[in-house]
Amino acid sequence: MAGPTGLSDVGPVTRVEFRVEDMDCASCLDTIRRSLEKRPGIICVEGSPISRRLEIDYDPATVDAEAIRREVSDLGYRVLAPSTATESTIKIWSSRRALRAYLAGTLLFVGLVLRLALHGTIVDSHGGPAWPGLEDLLFVAAAIVGASNFLPRAIGALRGRVLDMHVLMLLAVIGATVIGEYMEAAAIAFLFSVAELLEGFASERAEASVRSLMELSPDVARVRRDGVEVAVRAADVESGDLVVVRPGERIPVDGRVVEGHSAVNEAPITGEAMPADKTQGDHVYAGSIVHEGFLVVESERDAGDTTLARMIRLIEDAERRRSPSERFVERFARYYTPAVTIGAVLLVAVPVLLLGQPFDTWLLRGLTLLVIACPCALVISTPVSVVSAVTSAARHGVLIKGGASLERMAEVRVVAFDKTGTLTHGRAEVTDVIPIAELEADDVLAVAAAVEARSEHPIARAIVRAAAGAGEPYEVEDFESFPGQGARARVEGVVHIVGRPSLHADADSLPQLAELASQGKTPVVVLRETDDASRQIVGILGLTDPLRPAARSVITRLREMGIQRVVVLSGDLKQAAEEAGREVGADDVWSRLEPAAKVDAVERLEYETGRVAMVGDGVNDAPALAAASVGIAMGAAASDAALETADIAVMGDDLERLPYLYSLAQRSRRVIRQNIAAAILVKMVLAVGVPLGWVSLIVAVLVGDMGASLVVTANALRLARVRE
Ligand code: ADP
Ligand code: MG
Repeated sequence: MAGPTGLSDVGPVTRVEFRVEDMDCASCLDTIRRSLEKRPGIICVEGSPISRRLEIDYDPATVDAEAIRREVSDLGYRVLAPSTATESTIKIWSSRRALRAYLAGTLLFVGLVLRLALHGTIVDSHGGPAWPGLEDLLFVAAAIVGASNFLPRAIGALRGRVLDMHVLMLLAVIGATVIGEYMEAAAIAFLFSVAELLEGFASERAEASVRSLMELSPDVARVRRDGVEVAVRAADVESGDLVVVRPGERIPVDGRVVEGHSAVNEAPITGEAMPADKTQGDHVYAGSIVHEGFLVVESERDAGDTTLARMIRLIEDAERRRSPSERFVERFARYYTPAVTIGAVLLVAVPVLLLGQPFDTWLLRGLTLLVIACPCALVISTPVSVVSAVTSAARHGVLIKGGASLERMAEVRVVAFDKTGTLTHGRAEVTDVIPIAELEADDVLAVAAAVEARSEHPIARAIVRAAAGAGEPYEVEDFESFPGQGARARVEGVVHIVGRPSLHADADSLPQLAELASQGKTPVVVLRETDDASRQIVGILGLTDPLRPAARSVITRLREMGIQRVVVLSGDLKQAAEEAGREVGADDVWSRLEPAAKVDAVERLEYETGRVAMVGDGVNDAPALAAASVGIAMGAAASDAALETADIAVMGDDLERLPYLYSLAQRSRRVIRQNIAAAILVKMVLAVGVPLGWVSLIVAVLVGDMGASLVVTANALRLARVRE
């Protein structure tokens, strides 16, 4: 299509989002997607059966949002605006669908009792009276009431020329009625309605667990304005507001403590059960709980932008990124359903037309096979597992951005650790200050601190801490940071650079530097740019950076769980990096790597050994995290960039989450495989039993649809119980 200027082929893309109330099974989403994507102007349909969201990208020159809304509702679904979504919780068991299912069940039950009273048996006597009995009227009524639950969606699917489970079930109900198997018709309509309710219930539970994260953030905040406290909606708190939090309350904002002192439980964000002491200057997160103290927090973020709000958004997005297993199942279902349907037709045609078998018996078998053609349990099996795993990880302070990351994590063979800030605490300490030129030691430190004042690197923070309170603050301009290298700024008008020794060609030949390196310390050079833009070394700082106590045991456990190779990737010098590697028990240590070289290192590891999980800080290491199969950012709560770039973000600063994560990923993969295999196997066994006359229609619905859905859902919910 030509744009209005005639220059471009592709018009602008607009996105609309709906909430679709009864789209709670994965194959419903597939039906909607396949029907809509055939319409002109609709570019892409994405959504999640769990949050019942539908996102449609369309070309506004061809269709508009209202027309799309009508199309979805023509497919037989109830469409709401997304804004009504989060507030309205439909109660599955008291919904209109449920009431119809109960009514159908009651009619079916009364019909059975009546038949028992009239004939002394509930089993239909074949070749019985030519006219339907009284109980059969009840069965037909039950079939109509039950089928009205999926009739609109069946018609919608037919209109969209999609053969989905609603169509199949409707055919089964109609077929059974036509050959006078009224009780069977009623039973399918009733049982399938219940199966759908169960599926809706499973989705709703999964959604509720996502929503319960949202409820961690209080609705009301007490803000101090002009010395008086006023209660305002938490959503209206702006950055800069002073928020008062009392003992036992949840903090409503992300911000910095300006007054007070308390232990704060940050478990909702970081998953860390031990409360952290917070006092003036410390960061706190919305959703964490103040213990015994009283805090005044200066809000640093608008309400919609807190770490918690971001986490929730990322988890919601995670549902939409389909994993390889989900794609496999979807593709499988697209062939499976038509294939079995053709099988059903043949199962009637061949015996009746070619072998002269009785029509009624074989039609019933054909209908049974139709019921088995429904891919429901199969299609729901993977998304419920993924959502279950992702939300349970969130409760442990680990944010997994989608099923694909989860499945890849299970296949990781190599773990590569960044050193500074990841294997070490990031609480480095300046131990040596060596002036090289005419400056005093204190001046070297003060200049270095002035340059580093705005850098987030652990080394920078250590330098700033070491220099605290030393002399008058300098005038600093033109700050610039070079990730993995150092930082530069104009101090009192002169450009200074602080960073890795390789920034100066002569640094390696300085005996002082070799001395620091041989002690396993991390040397940092302080350079001054002279007028002719050449660099002069004015000092060297030596730092030590203690390893995290947990590092060694975490690596040991990862190995026990199947990790084949552990590598340290460091920008630091050889000695310091190798010492760290030896202490934690790494297989290889690659040192003096710049950020780009870490990318090469990751690629080499992927090539040599297999899938790599790169564990880093998410800022310095962002390129390497992106290059790895799985990029894991540590301490992501403290950094927006880390939260956005990583595949998996460990919110707290705790390496112990890694073995948990790996075991969760492996279990998820196992559960997903079990679910897919179980669903396929059940269908296969039933399908083989049908021509032999071993499987009745009712068994097919009860076992193949409802039973299988229940089993895969229950299996998925086990993932919520994985512990550290
Ligand atoms: P690692 O890979 O061990 O985490 P980085 O890549 O973060 O290390 O940094 C590599 C080296 O670069 C450090 O050892 C240090 O010498 C230097 N460096 C990086 N950033 C800074 C900074 N802000 N200030 C001083 N030195 C820095
Ligand atoms: Mg680092």
